[in-house]
Amino acid sequence: MEETPEEAAKSILERLREGGLWQPHGLGLSYVKEGVKTVKLISQENTPSSAQARIRMRLLIEGIGWKVDETICEIVEVEHLSLEEKHMKEMMMRQELAQSWKCSCGTPLSAFPLEQGLWRHDGQDEMILPTGEKEMVEQWSVVVDCPVCEAEIPLEPYDYGLLAGDDSMLTYKTSKMVYTAATRPEIIDRVDSKLAETIIILGTFCPFHGDLLPPHIRGGVCFYSEIKEEEEE
Ligand SMILES: [Zn+2]
Repeated sequence: MEETPEEAAKSILERLREGGLWQPHGLGLSYVKEGVKTVKLISQENTPSSAQARIRMRLLIEGIGWKVDETICEIVEVEHLSLEEKHMKEMMMRQELAQSWKCSCGTPLSAFPLEQGLWRHDGQDEMILPTGEKEMVEQWSVVVDCPVCEAEIPLEPYDYGLLAGDDSMLTYKTSKMVYTAATRPEIIDRVDSKLAETIIILGTFCPFHGDLLPPHIRGGVCFYSEIKEEEEE
């Protein structure tokens, strides 16, 4: 059975974290979840199509029993922006929002020991592509621990990258191995020095122990080392 727009919106909103951003594709609208079953419209693009979408979305969201707060909506001038500038602006907005995410005890997620985040495979989920076709997609989260109340908070990999920075996506630890992405100059240097066996191209599984690897590290050329016993918990 096809998922209706109402069902799709409902499942997105229910999964959205407090302070999380939702930008329905191609509408020029940005919503932030704030409070119980409430989203705040924080920006709308200054175009007729975005203005119309705003009305449609409001009806849709209210139709599934959520509230839309439009009191602080900023109208964003987009006509003079290039695609690249638009993208930059969006990234800045996302990063700013990520800084405001908090644990239920009030500790900002940005103060967590994010480098210790643990990747967790949550199984498969059906995703509807823009073409209308369905595809099974692996779901992953990165679990981070609150240093104050010890709550375990699962983050979407994208959100984790926003908080922890791009460098956090360059290393990956299984229970037994550490993989670190090699740069092109590093790869060239190793191969020229006849040390190509010290780097490895990763596939879907850890070649040493068979652990499933998360998608971002697959196909990467990596340095590898074994985690010593005493470092294990
Ligand atoms: Zn906490």
